[in-house]
Order: sequence, then structure tokens, then C-alpha cells
Amino acid sequence: MTDEGAERTMQLLYALRSAGVTDPRVLTAMERIPRGHFIHGIFKDRAHEDVPLPIPCGQTISQPSVVGLMTQALQVGPRDKVLEVGTGSGYQAAILALLARRVYTVDRHRDLVLQAREILESLGLHNITTLVADGSHGLAEQAPFDRILVTAAAEDPPSPLLAQLRIGGIMVLPVGQSDTVQSLIRVTRTGEKGFDYDELRPVRFVPLLPGLGTD
Ligand code: SAH
Repeated sequence: MTDEGAERTMQLLYALRSAGVTDPRVLTAMERIPRGHFIHGIFKDRAHEDVPLPIPCGQTISQPSVVGLMTQALQVGPRDKVLEVGTGSGYQAAILALLARRVYTVDRHRDLVLQAREILESLGLHNITTLVADGSHGLAEQAPFDRILVTAAAEDPPSPLLAQLRIGGIMVLPVGQSDTVQSLIRVTRTGEKGFDYDELRPVRFVPLLPGLGTD
């Protein structure tokens, strides 16, 4: 890494710690995944800043501190099978792949999935499966999941995702109307019918939309 690269990584880690990301496994994973690889064009230069940035198909790569807090709240273990809904750039999936045994990530935009797949392969991350799908239905053929992370906002936790969470499993997702401030919540499945809900913090995500995108 160049001096400038090292300094930018330090800057990012400082922003993460200031935001409350303290889990050393999460910090190490985020230090290892170069966010700049997932951003193209004029915004690439700003990859080290703690802000969301535009990616194709009118979507955004989340703010690193939010990625860090969501990953930390998910409490991913090395034996876990994880579902991510909302691949976007693939950045969050890459971080999950360093912490989990296997990651399935789905997005409704084919172009985003193809681009993310290429970047993830170029980084040598082979425990991620990328799929074009409407993630609000989950991924029944791979269920149940130990962990589910949703990176687009629904009004309520989609019931197929609750059903595909293993008992003892954790799901982290933003809920609320898309044009207002949403809440990041953590759902823990305590039994066949039992779920505990914790409200973590206000966030702002793009909406979880039905069906597939047109690109
Ligand atoms: N996790 C991403 C950021 C995601 S932005 C990253 O690290 O870059 C939210 C993503 O959710 C967008 O790419 C959008 O296309 C996707 N999305 C919205 N509704 C969806 C749905 N029903 N199923 C799958 N993906 C969806």
C-alpha cells in the first residue's frame, strides 16, 4: 500500500471507531477490503470518506460506519451461513465473506450482480454466491440462515425472511418508510414463533422494491 493509501485506511478506521465500531474482527475485515474497488468513475477518489456514494442503477454503496455497525450487530461467526439482501456494489458482501463460512447475496438488478461478482472474484473471495433475485422472498433453497442482513428498507421485516432465519439466528435490517428516517433493527429468533426486536439507531437506506429491476 502507498503512504497515501495507508493514511486513508487509518482515516477510515478512525471514522469507524468514532462511530462505535469496536469489534476487532469487524475492524480487521474492513481494513482488508478496499472500498475503492467497488466504486467506479468520479466518486472512486472519495472511497475512503465515511459517506454513502452513488453506484450504477440509481443505488448507493452504504456509508462505511453504517456497514461496520450493521456487521457488528449481526455477530457473524466463522461457521455461519449468511444471506445478504441488496448486493449493490458487493462491498458489504465482501466484508461478510471474511467473517462467515458462506455468504449468499442477492440483488434485483442484474447489472449490479454481474459487476459485484467480477470484483469479488478478483479479490479472491470464493465463499460468496451472487444471485439475481427479489430478496424479499429470501432464498428458500438455501434456508435456514444463521444470519440475514438486509441493506434496503422495508416497512416491516418481510415474513419469508423471518421464516428463513434459524432458531437462535439474527437478522439486521432497516425498517420504515423509504422517504423518511428509518430504524435499524435487530431481530433474534428465539423459537418456532418467537422473535425479539431491538432498535439500534436511525438510518437511511434505499427502499426494498418488489420484483426484478430492468437492468
Ligand atoms: N449492500 C450494498 C448497498 C446496497 S444498496 C453495498 O455494500 O454496496 C441497496 C440494494 O438493494 C440496491 O442495490 C437495490 O437494487 C437492492 N434491492 C432493493 N430491493 C431489493 C429486493 N427486493 N431484492 C434484492 N435486492 C433489492
